[in-house]
Amino acid sequence: MLPNHAAFDLDMRVIHGLKPGKRLFICATIHGDELNGIEIIRRVLASSLTKHIHGTLIAIPIVNLFGMLLHSRYLPDRRDLNRSFPGSEAGSSAAQLANTFLTEVVAKCTHGIDLHTGSNNRLNLPQIRCGFEHDETLRLALSFGAPVILKSKIREGSLREAAENLGIPTLTFEGGEALRFNEFAVRAGVAGILRVMSTLKMIPAGKCSAAKGSPVISPSSRWLRSPMTGVLRSACWLGDKVLKGDVIAKISDPLGTTTTDVVALFDGIVIGRTQNPLVYKGDALFNIAWVSDPTRAQATIEAFEEEEFEEDQFNLFTETPLP
Ligand SMILES: [Zn+2]
Repeated sequence: MLPNHAAFDLDMRVIHGLKPGKRLFICATIHGDELNGIEIIRRVLASSLTKHIHGTLIAIPIVNLFGMLLHSRYLPDRRDLNRSFPGSEAGSSAAQLANTFLTEVVAKCTHGIDLHTGSNNRLNLPQIRCGFEHDETLRLALSFGAPVILKSKIREGSLREAAENLGIPTLTFEGGEALRFNEFAVRAGVAGILRVMSTLKMIPAGKCSAAKGSPVISPSSRWLRSPMTGVLRSACWLGDKVLKGDVIAKISDPLGTTTTDVVALFDGIVIGRTQNPLVYKGDALFNIAWVSDPTRAQATIEAFEEEEFEEDQFNLFTETPLP
């Protein structure tokens, strides 16, 4: 509970289908300021496709209520919930919440999707992060149909690590930024979850739109850091290709008398970038994913953007049906 003894609840919606099937959890706000997933989950629950499902869908829009109320990523004592799994009953409040969430929700499921955004003024292109070792995880990642699939190592203490240790394939979706809704990321998240449910045979095949292209698959990414303290300006946007040696931004003093170029160190596409023009030397500016053909990757991502906005199934004002 909270210090005033108000409940520290873990509200969720559980939809049991009449017919047996897979059990999927979808969760958001493990980092308390990453709100985009709340709207993704609301739209999934409002979709007519989740009214009659096979199996069980467990939707948890706010895992870290404490952080959400404070507009903060963290739990008390600045604990990061996504570094606190598997947790324990006797540990910090983050460890206790991790333990409760893992044992009461995750362990009862067969598959999972964990929704995140960029942190700390950083905006992410919609992307799935997963390991490529397990066939089932990769199958789900491909079926999700996000513009980018990024191979990423499992972080120690993360929900993904704890779930995979239990044999539960779990995808991490990243899209948008903290404390904001991002329409492209919301639509990509909703469409992706419905596609995964279709792949898991929880909703009938052919009812939700298949991704029209194959995602850009990248084996790694690296943040390009600021070479100087100052004011950043750039026309380089998410999904843009960059080539080694390209000047993709400039940093100046406020009067513009001293300027330094920000130069791409390798070929790739931009999958994340800072939104804050005030930067210190060493700050992370652009997250660049390595790809073998940046021109093709940029065209693929543009096609994804057009596709998500062609869809008309995502009515912003559709009400969630009562259970
Ligand atoms: Zn996060």
